[in-house]
Amino acid sequence: MAEAPTDIASLDPAGLAEALTALGQPSFRRRQLMAWLYGRLAPDFAGMTDLPASLRENLANSYTLNQPDALEVQRSSDGTRKYLWRFADGVTVESVGIPSGDRLTVCFSTQAGCPMGCAFCATGRGGFTRDLLPGEMTWQVALTARDFGLRASNAVAMGQGEPFQNYDATLGGLRLMNAPDGLGIRARHLTVSTCGVIPGIRRLATEPEQFTLAASLHSAVQATRDRLMPGVKRWPLEELKSTLIDYTHRTGRRPTLEYALIAGENDTPEEIAALVAFARGWMSHVNLIPVNPVAGTKASRPGDPRIAQVAAALEAAGVETSVRTERGTDIDAACGQLTQRHRVSAE
Ligand code: SF4
Repeated sequence: MAEAPTDIASLDPAGLAEALTALGQPSFRRRQLMAWLYGRLAPDFAGMTDLPASLRENLANSYTLNQPDALEVQRSSDGTRKYLWRFADGVTVESVGIPSGDRLTVCFSTQAGCPMGCAFCATGRGGFTRDLLPGEMTWQVALTARDFGLRASNAVAMGQGEPFQNYDATLGGLRLMNAPDGLGIRARHLTVSTCGVIPGIRRLATEPEQFTLAASLHSAVQATRDRLMPGVKRWPLEELKSTLIDYTHRTGRRPTLEYALIAGENDTPEEIAALVAFARGWMSHVNLIPVNPVAGTKASRPGDPRIAQVAAALEAAGVETSVRTERGTDIDAACGQLTQRHRVSAE
């Protein structure tokens, strides 16, 4: 029986090279193929005109090529756009494009839905559907950039999903985005955001590329964190801190600690004292994110004076701190607001 064709999106740069070698092709063909798939966004193999006709035919017989379709584009008054993509199997995910002058940051999804169940997150409430493939992540970024008519300067794995629960595919996606003939985004401009999956942080510290790491903390009090982020209960805060410190020693890079500020929940004096104790004395950067409204949750944003007080308390303790300016809140494109609306509404 003939083997079923493989999805070309399942291959990272090394996988594409192996596939071409198996088809008897010289190594430079990988650059050409990657440029067609993700640079020029060819919708099929037939149109890859500088590849020999016999190779195009072999590729079409052995692989499927299914770019996602844009089901919906929402445009925010601040220039942010949110996209709903549908893959060939009907699964949908969202990406967000955030322009700033001639720069474009694209927030992409690594899973359809998410198994982690964070209390304040719309994605977690929608459940988990499936892992995404490296090419499916790369297409979100490339197609978003094409719609803006810009090159993506930065890409962040902060959309739906926990990247380290889909580690190999996420690294494969980052490598396609980083490759000069893929999207050519510098490694330091590619960020992986984890909710604290320690084995993934350890592995990332050993990778050769200088990808950037962000870890969602959201509380440095164990009981609060367990309630807000039940999916990472098994990796306690103490171990998270020692793993992150070890990461800074191995890589020389400063991870960001994401902290979604929720009024009355994790902005109290006790919570802020615990945050200071967690972040002080090592190479961390705290990014305060005043929480966004998510339908069906009670989480609310602290007032501006309280946000300023928290930032000042951290700075006074010597902790490098920033407050994120939210973009795209009016189209539910900000952090924690992405959902799988089509899937959820079909249930
Ligand atoms: S915050 Fe991230 S890890 Fe948590 S449920 Fe949402 S998508 Fe998943």
